[in-house]
Amino acid sequence: MVRIVMKFGGTSVADLDRIKNVARHVKREVDAGHEVAVVVSAMSGKTNELVGWVQGAPKVVGANSPFYDAREYDAVVASGEQVTSGLLAITLQAMDINARSWQGWQIPIRTDNAHGAARILEIDGSDIIKRMGEGQVAVISGFQGLGPDNRIATLGRGGSDTSAVAIAAAVKADRCDIYTDVDGVYTTDPRIVPQARRLKKIAFEEMLEMASLGAKVLQVRSVELAMVHKVRTFVRSSFEDPDAPGMGDFLNPPGTLICDEEEIVEQEVVTGIAYAKDEAQISLRRLADRPGVSAAIFGPLAESHINVDMIVQNISEDGSKTDMTFTVPSGDVDKAIKVLGENKEKIGYDVVQNESGLVKVSVIGIGMRSHAGVAATAFKALADKGINIKAITTSEIKISILIDGPYAELAVRTLHSCYGLDKN
Ligand code: ADP
Ligand code: ASP
Ligand code: MG
Repeated sequence: MVRIVMKFGGTSVADLDRIKNVARHVKREVDAGHEVAVVVSAMSGKTNELVGWVQGAPKVVGANSPFYDAREYDAVVASGEQVTSGLLAITLQAMDINARSWQGWQIPIRTDNAHGAARILEIDGSDIIKRMGEGQVAVISGFQGLGPDNRIATLGRGGSDTSAVAIAAAVKADRCDIYTDVDGVYTTDPRIVPQARRLKKIAFEEMLEMASLGAKVLQVRSVELAMVHKVRTFVRSSFEDPDAPGMGDFLNPPGTLICDEEEIVEQEVVTGIAYAKDEAQISLRRLADRPGVSAAIFGPLAESHINVDMIVQNISEDGSKTDMTFTVPSGDVDKAIKVLGENKEKIGYDVVQNESGLVKVSVIGIGMRSHAGVAATAFKALADKGINIKAITTSEIKISILIDGPYAELAVRTLHSCYGLDKN
């Protein structure tokens, strides 16, 4: 018996017609004799609308958070998925398919207490496994679980991907198919670069970097779970005809397989380009160059949950003073400046400067481990287009470059073609 988990994103369930189309995909797999669990997102735009309502609701006097109470935020924003799981179950029933909807708390999907960005801790798959064994399709609301306080907890934006992979791991599914509005993972966002090529396969580590560095096709946590639990995960399109030839191919469905690097026969040096908008740079000028300065800066920022990324330090000629520059998400700049202000004396800097609206473009590829000169190629290509580099960070399998916002698309296109990624 084959067991599969199928996940459908917001655009795939955007209205009743699309939900009918999703039901046809599900029917194809049911007719093939497979046991099926389906994970759905809210209709596209719905979660944004719900978040907007929470943000617009009256505030407790003196509250300085954009939301009131994270538990009530979760109660509101998790509702979008409740609607689509019910509607898909109804639609499947009308097609004579035995189906039942499940909310996170009904399974239950246990999470930690980080409301709004909770992590899945444990899933009791026994009930749905039993029902699937009896021929019932489980239609599960993505993006949500049950916190230790017995309240609904949501998993962070894009979290239905993570629900799907976690459920696939819990029910020991043979495959997890992430259906979306593109037909696979591309060398870069195909909406920005029409020359982007679809990848047949991509290694877990590369997909993890792509997702962390801005490619929102999969939530980062879903890739981590797929890697740890060895879930065979495909990214594929829900917009293709559900009954077109090959759509039901068990071993080689159309789309991109996320897999171990050993499974990839022809490994390119560079696999893809990702970009993340809304980065900001903060510089502390004329710091005393002494042990403990970095700890004095980054300790308090970490305690305030500010995610610091690229760090660059310049030392003055006589070695007595230093400048420290680092990036944070644009949304965290004000908070970071406040924290640095509160710690000015302890850190001992002269002035703090900041600049928002920057973009981080990244070149990703496992092949970089064994090839020299990959970074130099990027620097030259960007220089030839007159794009100024503000900061650089590298790891074994990625190079990230910080540039001014208006150059984002040009930089992504330039890097994409300089590594020969453009389709012919
Ligand atoms: P869903 O609602 O199905 O979860 P998302 O909007 O979250 O869909 O993710 C799909 C989108 O990810 C695509 O429409 C595409 O614009 C974007 N994307 C970014 N980078 C890539 C990439 N490298 N390959 C494919 N899609 C990408
Ligand atoms: N509906 C949620 C969101 O928009 C979860 C998801 O789509 O994965 O973030
Ligand atoms: Mg998504």
